[in-house]
Amino acid sequence: MGGGLAGLRAAIAAVESNGEITVGLVSKLYPLRSHSVAAEGGTSAVLDPEDNFDLHSYDTIKGSDYLADQDAVEEFVKLVPEQIYTTDHWGCPWSRAEDGRISQRDFGGLSFPRAVFAADKTGFHVMQTLYSRCLMYDRIHFYNEYFATSISVDSNRFNAMTTINLRTGEYTIFQSKSLILAAGGGGRMYRFSTCAHSTTGDGDAIAYRAGIPLKDMEFVQFHPTGLVPSGILITEAARAEGGYLRNSEGKRFMEHYAPTKLEEAPRDIVSRAMMWEIEAGRGVRGGYGNIEYINLDLTHIADKLEERLPMITDIARKFNNIDAAEGPIPVRPATHYTMGGVSVGIGTETVVPGVFGAGENASISIHGANRLGSNSTNECLALGNVAGKKAAEFASSHGIPDLNHDKIREEEKRLWEDIMRRDGGENVAAIRSDLGHTMDVNVGVFKTGEKLESAIKTIYELKERYSRISIQDKSNVFNTELQWALEVGYMLDLAEIVAKGAFERKESRGAHYRKDFPKRDDDNFLKHTIATYTRDGPRLEYSPVRITKWQPAERVY
Ligand SMILES: Cc1cc2nc3c(=O)[nH]c(=O)nc-3n(C[C@H](O)[C@H](O)[C@H](O)COP(=O)(O)OP(=O)(O)OC[C@H]3O[C@@H](n4cnc5c(N)ncnc54)[C@H](O)[C@@H]3O)c2cc1C
Repeated sequence: MGGGLAGLRAAIAAVESNGEITVGLVSKLYPLRSHSVAAEGGTSAVLDPEDNFDLHSYDTIKGSDYLADQDAVEEFVKLVPEQIYTTDHWGCPWSRAEDGRISQRDFGGLSFPRAVFAADKTGFHVMQTLYSRCLMYDRIHFYNEYFATSISVDSNRFNAMTTINLRTGEYTIFQSKSLILAAGGGGRMYRFSTCAHSTTGDGDAIAYRAGIPLKDMEFVQFHPTGLVPSGILITEAARAEGGYLRNSEGKRFMEHYAPTKLEEAPRDIVSRAMMWEIEAGRGVRGGYGNIEYINLDLTHIADKLEERLPMITDIARKFNNIDAAEGPIPVRPATHYTMGGVSVGIGTETVVPGVFGAGENASISIHGANRLGSNSTNECLALGNVAGKKAAEFASSHGIPDLNHDKIREEEKRLWEDIMRRDGGENVAAIRSDLGHTMDVNVGVFKTGEKLESAIKTIYELKERYSRISIQDKSNVFNTELQWALEVGYMLDLAEIVAKGAFERKESRGAHYRKDFPKRDDDNFLKHTIATYTRDGPRLEYSPVRITKWQPAERVY
C-alpha cells in the first residue's frame, strides 16, 4: 500500500530478491505524485572516511531526545550507504564535488556534513530513479488511483485490502500473501503544513482500525521554515548553506537558544525559538494580513542560490514575488512529519505475521521524539529495501488465506450504505478545515494541558458532526468528495490519538513541548506510547526504550 519512496523501494527489493515474486503496488495517487517527490534538502549517509556509523547513530539519538530505539538506529545507519550507491548506479543524479565524488552538505543537528543531495530536488530525482527501475520489471503491477479503505486481519493473518478504483468507483478487493504498509504520514491533520494535501495518514488509521498498534503518535514535527502564507517548504538546506533567521528588529536570535549550532540546530529547537520570538513581540508583520512571521535572509549567499537552492529560489519568486537574492523570505513553523506510525520491529514486521511497515507510515523507532532533517528519505530507501525482502520471504513460504467474505461485505456496507448515504447536512470540507484549525492552535509547537483538553473536546464534536455529513456527489467517477470524507475520517481518529497521547505525556521531549511541563522527565516518560484501537477510542499503553551505548543526557546544541 503506497507508491512513494518506501513503497517503490520495497517493490524493487521484493522482485529482485526472488525471481518468482509478483508485486501489486496499490496507490491512491499516480506514484510520481506521492509526497516523496517534494523532498528537497538531502538524505544522510556515512560515505566519508572521516565520518562514522557511531556518529550518525549518536546524532540521530540525540536528535530524537533519547526516545529512539538505539539498536534500531545502529542497524539503520549501516544500511544507508549501500542505498546511495545503488541509486547512483540506477541513475540518480546525485550532486557531485569538483573531484567527482558525491557531495555532502550540513543539515540540522548533524555533527558531520553528511546529507547527500540532488540540488534541492532530492525527492524528485530519487523517485524518478526508483520509478524507472520499477518499470523494468513486468512482475511489478501498478494499481494507480486505487484508494485503500481498509485491511482485514483474520486469524492473525492479513486477509484482504479493500479499495475503491477512483476512476470507475468500483469496489475492488486485493489479496496477497504479505502486505507492506507504505502509505506515508499524516501531516495534513493540521492546516499550516508543508505536506501534500494527500498526506492524510490513511495507512496509519487503516492499520489501527484493523488492530495493529500505533507508536508515539504525539510526536509531530514542525519544520521551522514553512513559506507564509502557503506553508510550502523552504528547505533546511537554506540555513545549512548559510541562511539567517531574523526577527522584526532585523536581528539574528538563534544564539540565545542554540549557541553553538545557531540556525543549524534541530527543527524542534529552531521552531520553538521562532515561536518564542513571535510571542515576545518580535515577530515580523506586514504583507500577509495578521500573520506574524520570521524573516529568512539569504541575500548574503546570493551566489549559491542558482546551483544549490534553485527550487526554493523559484518558489519564493513564483508564490511570493520575492527575489531571494534581494530580500528576505517570510517563514513560520509548519507541520512537516509524523514521527509516530505503525509500530514495527527492526525487521519492519508488525504484530501481524506477514504485514510489514516502511517509510513515514511506520515507526521502528529511529526518530523518537524528533526526526533529524535528511533522516527520512534514507529510511524509506534502507527500510523499504528490508520490508520488500522480508515480505518476499514471507510470501514464498505462505499461501493466500481464504477470503473472509463477511468482513468484505461489512466494509462495502460502511462505504456505500453508511458514508455515501449519510444525509445530515454537515460539510466534509468544513470539518477538515475545523480539524486543521484546532490542531494548529491547540496541538502546535507549544502545548498545555488546557489546550489539549480543548482539542480533544473539539475532536469529539467533529466526530459527532462527521456522523452527520452529506455527500452531495453521488457519481462513481473520481468521486473526490467521497475520498475526502474517508480521509477526514482517518484523520479524526489520528488526531484523537495525537491529542490524547500528548495530554498524557506530562513532560517536554523533542517536538512535544508542554509549557506546563517544560522539562524532560526520564523517570516517568522515557518510554514509547502505544495506541491500540477500541470502540471507545485509543487505549494508551507504554513500552520501554531500548538503549545500547548512549545514556540519556541533556540535549544542548
Ligand atoms: C516538503 C517536504 C520536504 C521533505 N524533504 C525531505 C528531505 O530533504 N530529506 C528527508 O530525508 N526527508 C524529507 N521529507 C520527508 C520525506 O520526504 C517523507 O517522509 C518521505 O518521502 C515519505 O515517503 P513515503 O514513501 O513514506 O510516503 P509518501 O511519499 O507520502 O507516499 C505515500 C504513498 O501512499 C499512497 N497512499 C496513501 N494513502 C493511500 C490509500 N488510502 N490508498 C492507496 N494508497 C495510498 C500514496 O498514493 C503514495 O503513493 C520531506 C517532506 C516534505 C513534506
